[in-house]
Amino acid sequence: MDGSRREGIQERTRVKLHVKGTVQGVGFRPFVYRLAERIGVSGSVRNITGEVVIEAEGTMEQIRSFRFHLCHDPKPPIRVNCVEETRLPLIHDDSFLIETSREDGAATIGSPPDLAACIECIRDIHNPHSKYYRYPFTSCTSCGPRYTVLRTLPYDRNRTTFASFPLCEACRSEYSVPNNRRFHAQTMTCPQCGPTVECRSTDGVQLSGDALQACSMALREGGIAAVKGVGGFHLICDASQEQAIHNLRTRKHRPRKPFALMARDINHIEDLFVVNAAEREALLGPEAPIVLLTPKEKAKQVLPLSAIAPGLTRIGVFLPYTPLHHLLLSQSSGWFVATSGNVSGHPMTYRNEDALSRLQGIADVFLLHNRDIAVPIDDAVGHVVEQEFRLIRRARGYVPLPLPIPLPPDLKDGCHPAVLGVGAEMKNTVCMLHNGIAYISQHLGDMDTNEALAIHRQVRDHLMRLYGIEPDIIAYDPHPNYAISRETMKSNDPNQIRVFHHHAHMAACMAENQLDAPVIGCVLDGSGYGADGSIWGFEVLTGDYVGFIRNRSIRPFLLPGGEAGIRNPWMIGAALIYEATGDLLMVQRFIMERFPGHRERLPIVSAQLTGKLPTMRVSSAGRLFDGVSAILGLCSESTYEGEAALLLSDLVDPFADQAGNDMDKVGAYPFDVVNENWDVTATIQAMRNDLDTCLPMSLIGRKFHLTVAEMVVEGVRSAAEQSGIRQVVLSGGVWNNRYLMSAVKSLLAREGFFVYTHRTVPSGDGGISLGQAVCGLWRWAREHVLIGTNESDRGV
Ligand SMILES: [Zn+2]
Ligand SMILES: [Zn+2]
Repeated sequence: MDGSRREGIQERTRVKLHVKGTVQGVGFRPFVYRLAERIGVSGSVRNITGEVVIEAEGTMEQIRSFRFHLCHDPKPPIRVNCVEETRLPLIHDDSFLIETSREDGAATIGSPPDLAACIECIRDIHNPHSKYYRYPFTSCTSCGPRYTVLRTLPYDRNRTTFASFPLCEACRSEYSVPNNRRFHAQTMTCPQCGPTVECRSTDGVQLSGDALQACSMALREGGIAAVKGVGGFHLICDASQEQAIHNLRTRKHRPRKPFALMARDINHIEDLFVVNAAEREALLGPEAPIVLLTPKEKAKQVLPLSAIAPGLTRIGVFLPYTPLHHLLLSQSSGWFVATSGNVSGHPMTYRNEDALSRLQGIADVFLLHNRDIAVPIDDAVGHVVEQEFRLIRRARGYVPLPLPIPLPPDLKDGCHPAVLGVGAEMKNTVCMLHNGIAYISQHLGDMDTNEALAIHRQVRDHLMRLYGIEPDIIAYDPHPNYAISRETMKSNDPNQIRVFHHHAHMAACMAENQLDAPVIGCVLDGSGYGADGSIWGFEVLTGDYVGFIRNRSIRPFLLPGGEAGIRNPWMIGAALIYEATGDLLMVQRFIMERFPGHRERLPIVSAQLTGKLPTMRVSSAGRLFDGVSAILGLCSESTYEGEAALLLSDLVDPFADQAGNDMDKVGAYPFDVVNENWDVTATIQAMRNDLDTCLPMSLIGRKFHLTVAEMVVEGVRSAAEQSGIRQVVLSGGVWNNRYLMSAVKSLLAREGFFVYTHRTVPSGDGGISLGQAVCGLWRWAREHVLIGTNESDRGV
């Protein structure tokens, strides 16, 4: 190295680094502080606008090394995605500082999501020499509750529900020592200064002795415990005791809907379930979601699987994510059934007094604690499809992570209206969008009770407070019977924009994948209000965020009984057979053979099918799956939303990995295209023939799935011929079907299409609020520009 180069390296410099990624509320600033101390650079670190800004001064060599370690050393939950560097003049400071959040920054600093207990904290609670031994609220800068304890920003302890627990002397010293894991940990706490647990009986009396042991004892004896966790209450019982599970089902009025399993550790899971690399990574991530897994043969001997998830081949499994759950599981069989602590049809309970009153009659004991939950949140649920983890329910661990979205080109600089998407009626979420970033709320469930609407308002206000945003535009679904839409329309706000359900689905998938050019959208779901006022749900659309046209859909078929038909898929099966054959006798024989229990309803259903009673028609993939599920004899009555369709997708799920090749081996049923509609008359007839010749059920199921895949591909091909577009998005709840998604992706790829799917945004109605918000913004921007032109003045 020559003299001038060496001089260059020794030369002092000052840089500003903008760091993006998962860098707030995860101990990133203490990490940066320690790194700066180690390398010997001066400067500062602070949080702004969803990113961290570092100023660093030192020799060129020191800065280079600092930048390298900044990008390569962080461990999860910290994720550094991008570092931008700019030069600053030297100021010759001599120390490195963590700047505390300023009040005026509240509008721009994001809230971190809740993080599962880290390995080191778990070690602490099992270490008899640690001050955290058996302490259920142990946390550090890498772990602990965040979003659910934060009342307002910026993220400092006095604005969380830990505010009423000031740090003791010992904790304060850990908090202020830079090389301690709890340096600047806002939610740290210990048995001396922190929250406490208590166990109560059904009559509200506090049980004496150790609360955790009292609860564990009740669980071992087959009892049901209501346990307050991070975002609300769980109802928990020992998963190895079939009677306890039956009691839970009976008391919760939940005959068949699957329960999730919480396992002591990853070894327990890998012992009983097939776990691939992507599933393992999802299970062990700081989000600790529920992951759908396939049990091994051996699992049946250890756990009563048919009681846990009746009729299903996959089960939701997750790891404990708080020290409290870890401690309970360490004194158990190793497996809990854990389900949301709610009364069926109502939102999850998250306050002590509500739990004691509402879960009375379900739980035998209540494990409570005195740290408030600022905002309730459920567990997230997802599964791995084609080696990628995809969320079915976006909730704890993922909220409120920011999602960058494409901005309309006609939006003028500095003009960034805030948009609120109020979401769909079922599986609701709300979405707040500002400055090119979308914040999607947690899953809020169905909006059919006043209680649910109140939680919707609470969460919406919480997000608005956290980000200091007041919406300028409100986007909603024009469905006349959506309670959430009616409430929006009632407010008479002038800046309301209607976004149709399936347009919002398509836009959500575009936004998640950062697409800003027109696409072909394949939207398959249960039901949504269509632009012509009828019920849609099986569409190929072409469009962008501003508008769409409908290229293809399934020919509307009869839905006898309306809502009753949705709960009784045998009625849809009967309608499909009737429309395919026109033979009422055949329908009657089908019902007598397959569903003799419903024979007394034959006259009414016959009248509905033949038009003697008024009957609605729907164009929905979900209902088609329901009907076929009934024709195959898998499900006659749905006890929970989507049960029949789920049983049908579950039938073919074991073949999901080979779905792409099945088209050549298994083949599809025939179908027709009549007046831009797919017609399934030939499909149902051929399927009936296969049933008569006793072809294996799973083979018929695969042929049916491949038929649906062929219809989608035919629609895309035809839309592409008209528009020249090659980019395709798949959205709507039906895409949670792994076999169907794999088949369609592979068939479209063969024809040279670029296929985009959902990952962190649910493909079901949980993604609707995002789609509404982005469409709202783009439509507003377009109209705003048009208003200033002559064309618009002429009313064109
Ligand atoms: Zn920790
Ligand atoms: Zn303490």
